[in-house]
Order: sequence, then C-alpha cells, then structure tokens
Amino acid sequence: MAEYIAPLEDQKFVINELAGLDRISRLPGFEHATEDLLEPILDEAARFASEVLSPTNTIGDREGCQVENGGVTVPAEFAAAYRLFAESGWQGLDCSQDYDGMGLPSLIGSATTEMWQGANLALSLCPMLNSGAIDALEVHASDELKQLYLPKLVSGEWCGTMDLTEPQAGSDLGRIRVQAVPDGDHYKISGTKIFITWGDHEMAENVIHLVLARLRDAPEGVKGLSMFLIPKFLVNDDGSLGDRNDVFVTSVEHKLGIHASPTCVLNYGDNDGAVGYLVGEENRGLACMFTMMNLARLQVGIQGLAISERAYQAARDYAKDRVQGQVLGSRDPARIIQHADIRRMLMTMKSLIEAMRATAYVTASALDTAHHADDADARSAALERSALLTPIVKGWLTEVAQELTSIGVQVHGGTGYVEETGAAQHLRDARILPIYEGTNGIQANDLVGRKLLADSGRGIQRMLGEMAETDAGLAARGPDLDSIRNALATGRQRLEQATNWLLDQGHDVPARVDSAAFNYMMLAGTVVGAWQMARAAEVAHGKLAAGGGNADFYNAKILTAKYYAEQIVPRSAAYLDAAVSDSSPAMDLPEDQF
Ligand SMILES: Cc1cc2nc3c(=O)[nH]c(=O)nc-3n(C[C@H](O)[C@H](O)[C@H](O)COP(=O)(O)OP(=O)(O)OC[C@H]3O[C@@H](n4cnc5c(N)ncnc54)[C@H](O)[C@@H]3O)c2cc1C
Repeated sequence: MAEYIAPLEDQKFVINELAGLDRISRLPGFEHATEDLLEPILDEAARFASEVLSPTNTIGDREGCQVENGGVTVPAEFAAAYRLFAESGWQGLDCSQDYDGMGLPSLIGSATTEMWQGANLALSLCPMLNSGAIDALEVHASDELKQLYLPKLVSGEWCGTMDLTEPQAGSDLGRIRVQAVPDGDHYKISGTKIFITWGDHEMAENVIHLVLARLRDAPEGVKGLSMFLIPKFLVNDDGSLGDRNDVFVTSVEHKLGIHASPTCVLNYGDNDGAVGYLVGEENRGLACMFTMMNLARLQVGIQGLAISERAYQAARDYAKDRVQGQVLGSRDPARIIQHADIRRMLMTMKSLIEAMRATAYVTASALDTAHHADDADARSAALERSALLTPIVKGWLTEVAQELTSIGVQVHGGTGYVEETGAAQHLRDARILPIYEGTNGIQANDLVGRKLLADSGRGIQRMLGEMAETDAGLAARGPDLDSIRNALATGRQRLEQATNWLLDQGHDVPARVDSAAFNYMMLAGTVVGAWQMARAAEVAHGKLAAGGGNADFYNAKILTAKYYAEQIVPRSAAYLDAAVSDSSPAMDLPEDQF
C-alpha cells in the first residue's frame, strides 16, 4: 500500500497565488513568514508526513485502541510517531512565540494540518484538538494558567482535549449537566462526558481537558455554561506534575473508522471531585469554547480535504496500473486510466480536491488577517469573511469527502471493497467528518441563521461582489477561459438568487429556511469552489503567458478548472432548485407515516 505523498506543488501554489502569502507576511507579527523560510519547512513537513506518520495509518486501523488498567493504550508505533512529532516542534508551528511556538500564520498551519491528516487521520486528531485548546487558553485563560500550561501544550509534551458531549447533550449544549462547585481557588467538577477524542492516553505526560460544565445556580441552557481546565495530573506551581486528578476513562467506543483515535467516556469526580480551574468568566463558557470550535471546524473541513487527497492518490496509482478491457478502436489491453468513466471519476476527485484546498486555505488566510492586521476595517472585513466561510469549509468539504472517498473505492473495483488496498479505510475514516464538531445540519443552520440572516446578507453580498470582480481578470486573458468565466457567472447568479430567496423568506417562514439550509450550504460551497478554481486558472494562464515555471502544472490547472466549470458547477442548479422549491411535504407528512 503506497504511502501518502503531500501534494506540495498545489499546496504551495494555493498558499502563494490564491491565499496571498506575500500579503500575510507583511502583517504585524508575521514578518518572518516569508516564502524563503516556509519552503524548507513545508518540504520537511511533507517528508515527515510520508515517512513517519503515514506508515502508522494501517497499523492503527487494524490494532485500534483499548482501555487497560484504567488507561487507554494505542499502538506502540503511534506513540513513537507522536514523540517525534512533538520533538520536531510541529505542534508549535502556528502557536505564539510568547509560549515558544514558531508564530507562523494559520495559512501555513492549514497546509501542515492537511499533511498530518492525509498521512494519518486517527493519530493527527490528537495534535489537532491540542491546537484548539491552545487557542482557547491563549484568548481566554488567566495569565497564571497560560504560564503554567501553554508552554507544555505548545511543545506537545502535554495534550489538550475538548469535552462538551454528554449522553443527553450532543448538538444541544444547553442540556449539559456536568456540575462545578467552587472550592477555594478552584472548582470541583463531577459528572460524565462521552465521545471525548483522545480523552486519555500515554503518548503525552499529561492530558489537559477543557470542559463545559454548569455551576449550581447557573441560568438554564447555554447561558449557564462555564469552561474549566481539568488536568489529568495536577500541576505544581513550578510546572512539575503532582497528584492524579479525579478524572478517569471508563471505556472507548468501537467505531466505523479512525479506530486508533480513542473516543472516550470520561468520569469526573467519582471520588473527591475533579479539580478544575475556571477559564474566562463564569457562565461565559460557550464563548470560550467557540474559540476552540471555530478553529476545529476549519480543521475538520481540512480533514475532509486531506482524506479525499489520500483516496485520490490511491485511486490514481491503481488506475495507472490495473489492466482491463480495451479502449474503443484498439485491441491492445488498456490500463483502466484510459477508460473515459475512470477519467470522469479521477477528474471529479482532482477538481473538487483542488477547489476544496483553495477554499480552506483562503479561509485560513482570512483568519490570519482578522487576528493580525493593524487596520481595524481590514480586521473586521476578514473576520466577517472567515466567519462566513467556516461553516462552508466544515460542511461542504466534509460532504464532498464522502463522495470522493467512495469514488476512491469505486475506481479500485472489488479490491476497493476489501481492506488490503486501504481505499475502504479512507471511506470509513471519512464518515465521522460530517458528524463531529457540529453536524453538517448544524453548520447549515449556522450559515443561514448566523452568517446570512443575522447580517441581512451583507457579508455574502460582499463576497458575491468580489466574485464578479474576478470576471474582469478572466476576460482579460482572452477567450481561452470563457467556459470558466461563464460557469462562474452562472454559479454566482444562482447563489445570489438563493440568497435573495432566503432573505425574502427571512424570519417569517423559519421551517422553509431551515429545510433550505443544507442545499444552500452545498450551493455556496460549489460556487465558492468555482470562484477559487477560476482565480487559479487566471493565475496559471498568466504564468504560461509569462513563460518559466512548471508549464505542465499550469496546463493541468487550467484543464482541471475547465472540468470543474463544466462538470461540477452544474450541480449548483440542482442545489438552487431544491433550496427554493417547496419542501413542505417533509414537514406535512404525519410522523406515523415515516
Ligand atoms: C468519533 C467521535 C469523536 C467525537 N469527539 C468529540 C470530542 O472530542 N469532544 C466532544 O465534546 N464531542 C465529541 N464527539 C461528539 C460529537 O460532536 C457529537 O456526536 C455531535 O455533535 C452530534 O451530537 P449527537 O451525537 O448527540 O447527535 P444529535 O445531536 O442527537 O443529532 C442527531 C441528528 O439530529 C440532527 N439535529 C440535532 N439537532 C438539530 C437541530 N437543532 N436542527 C437540525 N438538526 C438537528 C443532527 O444534525 C443529527 O443529524 C465525537 C463524536 C464521535 C462519534
């Protein structure tokens, strides 16, 4: 089974040409993030992903993880790979230099996240959640907590987790019941959390849980949630490890995929009460958790991209090798990549993956601007854009990942369905992505409710305006790119039509808006993808005209963008129709007829 190879050329193209690294590296705090510095870092990350993380992927799938003697054990190869990951400083790549991180932009962190996740999704969930915990603590924790915990989390010596879910509280966090009681300078926490990713393990010396819990006299619902830091081992003032805290794993789930990522049931406070420290203010925990969740949503979208890329690499290599049938007009045996239907599948994968990558990295670059620009207007425009794109990245990319990892199996034929090729593992691993970090139904509601209706569509109108500006650049490149121009114009009009329809329905017909939300999210993703592919084609066309560079890559980029324009953008018609058509039968059908 071939190892994952990071798609470095496309990653660098997107970072430099579409996500605007030169602009990001002029922002205060990112002056050191120049192309010259980043090039060798990305090359080394690619090597690490292929040579260290990727070889552990099948092992994890086969061995899984277990609870033994009150703790989780994972394959020894995972622990060894994780140790090297931490020792190499990868955890701190995009963390603040105040806590010994490298202080690089999220844009670069997104590229390395794609590599880690493509190489081994189950293992890389551990540092992914850690980076979310680091972000939340940096923004919301007291200086004392930051000094004590952040350097060890940034170095990867300790790992952070995100603890929200309880049996009765999944999408609806207002139902959280885990209790917190003040006890001197800390709180005592008791109750049970379920489904906690990497909730216990021995790859790191300490596991730091960020937990949503409720004080006794707190208001009902999400307004009564507070965030607590609960370490597995208490930490002494000098940073050394103290007593074992009262938080224990009782079991791990048996799952469809990501077998070696422990999905834990955690019990807090079965004995004396788990010691926890307040992060931020009492009853303001959801806002703190949203800092972590917003980053994690972008990263889960990137997981969708990464697993699709890995599935594509396997399908492409197999298709170049497998001999079956003949092509029309020839008696010679054909490799299956010569068949038009296999080309359709591979090109669907390639074009969607490139659109997904550009969409995700552009979102990360907006986040960098939102956090680092010194101009307040630039900051708020970038914040608006990243907030708008985040549910699209989480929702659209992870939905597309289902289709693409399934195509990956299909290209392999019967061998894809058996486990040896690894194609089946990618499909199984990908299936969690539309579920966790807020299901895609919740992402769609967030996009339509908070990002569209709440600002009367101003943010999306601004983005549609920018899409229209891309047309002038495409036109200037002559008739070669006409099919791309036309598709972008059509897609943009469809997105605008659906947007206006939703704004018209507004708050008056919430059921119609809710049932349109998923199709609207898919429409938005398809059209934003078309926009990014159009921008990519424009750049590639210009590079070819100027001469120099990798002409094969640029020609391939233009053909791939044309395929997206002709074969993927038509999906937007169906999403639009479904969004604005009458969906009332779904609500009208009596419950007993389901
Ligand atoms: C492998 C794995 C790892 C996980 N890791 C973590 C973790 O590290 N930390 C953590 O806290 N949690 C974690 N989770 C939990 C995960 O985030 C939840 O499973 C997810 O948020 C959905 O909650 P639920 O399972 O209770 O489903 P429910 O909330 O019961 O949802 C069931 C269905 O109803 C839909 N639905 C629910 N409410 C609405 C609504 N208002 N409008 C429309 N549709 C709705 C959902 O979209 C879904 O399709 C993990 C779960 C798994 C399986």
